[in-house]
Amino acid sequence: MKNRAQVVIIGGGINGVSIAYNLAKRGCHDVVLLEKGYLASGSTGRCGAGVREQWGTEMNCRLAQASIKKFEHLNEELNYDGDIEFKQKGYLILAHTEKEHEQFKRNLVLQNSLGIPSRMVTPQEAREIVPHLNTEGLLAATYCPEDGHINPFKATDAYAKAARRLGVEINTFTTVTGIVVKKGRVYRVITDRGSIETEMVVNAAGPYSQVIGQMVGLELPVYSERHQILVTEPVEPVQDPMVMSFSRRFYVQQTPHGSFIMGMGDPNEPKDFNIGQSWQFLEEMAKCIDHHLPLLSELRVVRQWSGLYNITPDAQPILGQVPGLRGYTMAIGFSGHGFMLAPMVGELIAQDILGQELSLPIDMLDLGRFDRGELVKEPSVV
Ligand code: FAD
Repeated sequence: MKNRAQVVIIGGGINGVSIAYNLAKRGCHDVVLLEKGYLASGSTGRCGAGVREQWGTEMNCRLAQASIKKFEHLNEELNYDGDIEFKQKGYLILAHTEKEHEQFKRNLVLQNSLGIPSRMVTPQEAREIVPHLNTEGLLAATYCPEDGHINPFKATDAYAKAARRLGVEINTFTTVTGIVVKKGRVYRVITDRGSIETEMVVNAAGPYSQVIGQMVGLELPVYSERHQILVTEPVEPVQDPMVMSFSRRFYVQQTPHGSFIMGMGDPNEPKDFNIGQSWQFLEEMAKCIDHHLPLLSELRVVRQWSGLYNITPDAQPILGQVPGLRGYTMAIGFSGHGFMLAPMVGELIAQDILGQELSLPIDMLDLGRFDRGELVKEPSVV
């Protein structure tokens, strides 16, 4: 392992590898990435890996829209020897309450003003898109054909391979245990395999971002929370889009392989680092599917697991450097949608580190917004 690098990235999830690739692509090859497990062993390899432009805040819409454009050509851009398996067959988002319906109308005005081709559909049209959908009690739905789903392991692998080819050193099974800050400047990262002197450390540690924050003396306004998910046996293709409901807190998609991946949020989940699984989730998920997509109720579950969201008070990420602390930047607090934003997050963090013009302004996603009280809460989350 190198003992000196221009940039040290903590975290080998999709955001860490995307930042590494984007730095190297811009000529900054002296980069070391540190990952305590294997690549994608954190939230990335545990996530639903859905990608959607249908958001309720402008920044989430813009970041997701630009990221989807990049995902569409990622195999070619990264010269990947595999396939990230981008199934671009849309998201169908269900409105079961008047409040949701009204919110979706506002979301569509925002999305369409940014060029996102989402639209409101009637329950009958929703059933044409997903024939096995139970439309009982459904008021309407929104649909965007550009949304979809990706294989998160392959996408991480694609970025990591491209970054390595450009000279990035990736060290897996290497845990960061401390960061040395002197006179308001980061200058060394300590690991269980030695230390690295650096001018810039990137906190891309996902649900452990707050732990890394404490190493540089920051109390970050984020917490981690378990979200459970399962996969079924594969069957012939029957469902094109991801089906999602915010009020009923679930999402369901069929992968190109044929298996279904589905998850459900629990409003009573404590704020901690638990990644165990519960019988209760399995039961509630099964009841939910039985009601909303009854055709799938006979499917056999192959495996269930869980991962952590890293949640901010406004469900928008925290990006960039912190005034008064030189040599530290972060890409954290992605809540339930950090996979889909990674292509743009990588580009923006790399541009910011290198002092280049940003392709999108990120100042409204800085850490200072919490002190300033300038929070715009994302309403469309599971
Ligand atoms: P991670 O993937 O968590 O990577 C951070 C890495 O840092 C980890 O691998 C960890 O091991 C490493 N690390 C931590 N501490 C240290 C240390 N001290 N030293 C070295 N390494 C360290 N997002 C979407 O966009 N779409 C979805 O459909 C979606 N569904 C989800 C479903 C579930 C069940 C869950 C749990 C999450 C979901 N998400 C989804 C959210 C998404 O998984 C995350 O926002 C995203 O993966 C974050 O990526 P990351 O690279 O920032 O963090």
